[in-house]
Amino acid sequence: MKGGPLAERVRAEVADDVRELGQIGLATVQVGEDPASTIYIRRKHEAAHEAGMRSVDRKLAEDVSQEELVGAVAELNQDDGIDGILVQLPIPRGLDEAEAVAAIDPLKDVDGVHPFNAGQLYLGRPTHVPATPLGIMAMLAEHEVPLDGARAVVIGRSDIVGKPVAHLLLQAHATVTICHSHTDDLSRQTLDADVLVVAAGVPGIVTADMVKAGAAVVDVGINRTEDGLVGDVDPAVADVAAFLTPVPGGVGPLTIAMLLQNTVRAARFRRRLLAFPGIRG
Ligand code: NAP
Repeated sequence: MKGGPLAERVRAEVADDVRELGQIGLATVQVGEDPASTIYIRRKHEAAHEAGMRSVDRKLAEDVSQEELVGAVAELNQDDGIDGILVQLPIPRGLDEAEAVAAIDPLKDVDGVHPFNAGQLYLGRPTHVPATPLGIMAMLAEHEVPLDGARAVVIGRSDIVGKPVAHLLLQAHATVTICHSHTDDLSRQTLDADVLVVAAGVPGIVTADMVKAGAAVVDVGINRTEDGLVGDVDPAVADVAAFLTPVPGGVGPLTIAMLLQNTVRAARFRRRLLAFPGIRG
């Protein structure tokens, strides 16, 4: 299951939406200069420009104070030309990540990390949903992987991948199991999976003997090793699984495409073309 062709299609649709809606703005906030974060942010800006969006790259020093960080987010909240705001995570230790995320206007929260949006997803009324889980679901839909009644196993319970994708799978009527670092026998769970989503950040954590024949396996992991960029799933799993996403070139391209789609969604919320529930009345 390659992500590139679907990502290209989504990005073309986003470009059409931008033409229809007029100017759309995406802002990123980066604290410090973590090289991986810098690469991710550059790719997001390149993709935004290509889709015709305006983008703002707010870079803050590693030693920025909590007040300055929250202040930078507040300024972007007020900026009428900005539809979507993303605080690149993780932020350096010593800063309060939860407070920084909660400072984002929920309408502009294109990463779906604000407690309001996370709660909406939990309640089955998604507003803004993190981009990677949306990309995973789009990939499964594209390949017509049945979810209703299927057994889905997610390895990883982060707020940005594991938990939200588990909720989306649940809402698609899969029976969902979430595994994490305290799960005692991982293969006991994975061997039961019709759909296996692996987001642990551990190279090769899933091997061919852990996968049911004919399963759909989504490898979310991005690990920098001496052998280059590798996923969490041993490539030999392709011999057993019906579908396997490659790394690189699987979920990664879709994540960026879905971030752009979320930014269009934010623009629609802000222009009242889509109703944003609850807190905005
Ligand atoms: P994270 O916050 O580090 O979470 C990792 C999760 O995996 C945790 O819930 C952890 O369990 C679990 N885990 C770790 N070791 C495990 C083990 N041995 N057995 C079972 N579970 C284990 O990472 P993340 O942000 O979710 O990202 C996960 C991976 O996806 C990373 O490689 C990241 O680079 C990649 N990623 C890719 C994209 C993309 O666009 N393709 C986007 C985001 C992330 P505990 O909760 O118990 O610690």
